[in-house]
Amino acid sequence: MIRLFSQLCKCFKQISFENEINIFDEHMKTLSIDALICPFCGAKHAFSLFASYKRHLVTYDNNEVHNNVIAISRYICSSCGHTHAILPSVIVPYMSFSFKFTVSVIHDYLIRKFNSVEAMCEHYGIAISTFYRILNKFKEHKQLWLGLLEDKLISNLNFIHHIINSTFIEIETFIINFFDRNGLSFFQETS
Ligand SMILES: [Zn+2]
Repeated sequence: MIRLFSQLCKCFKQISFENEINIFDEHMKTLSIDALICPFCGAKHAFSLFASYKRHLVTYDNNEVHNNVIAISRYICSSCGHTHAILPSVIVPYMSFSFKFTVSVIHDYLIRKFNSVEAMCEHYGIAISTFYRILNKFKEHKQLWLGLLEDKLISNLNFIHHIINSTFIEIETFIINFFDRNGLSFFQETS
């Protein structure tokens, strides 16, 4: 798996996390295969398209849930033969909910936007058990990121507000740093 980040691309400077499908499309449109390095063997300029497959990506825009179908590209490294899916930052690996969807549901829970967890889950179209899985993952990864001490000092709501109020580049920097440090993405399930 290769996490794709836009830091080097100026065209993302003006973009916000508002429309994640736009972000995804922009990522794939501007993808430079020659710039990718194989995460398995470190080879450069070794990738060619292996396959592409369709998957669902559930996003959250303007207080509405959107079901999208996106195409994920898988590239093969000619040096070691491993294949890698290209995953832009809006995608949480192994999850059909986008990064912003996930952040939004946690946010709305913490500010008690809905009368009950049931009502909130109905609005978001997710099972209650799914919500608690996401919430637990959020708490676990927040602690992983901040460390035990700071985790106690910074409330869940402060942390989620900080993410929501960040620029797109800041959010991507957070996602990439978390990935580099922990070998998995924020909100990613380990099993
Ligand atoms: Zn390789």
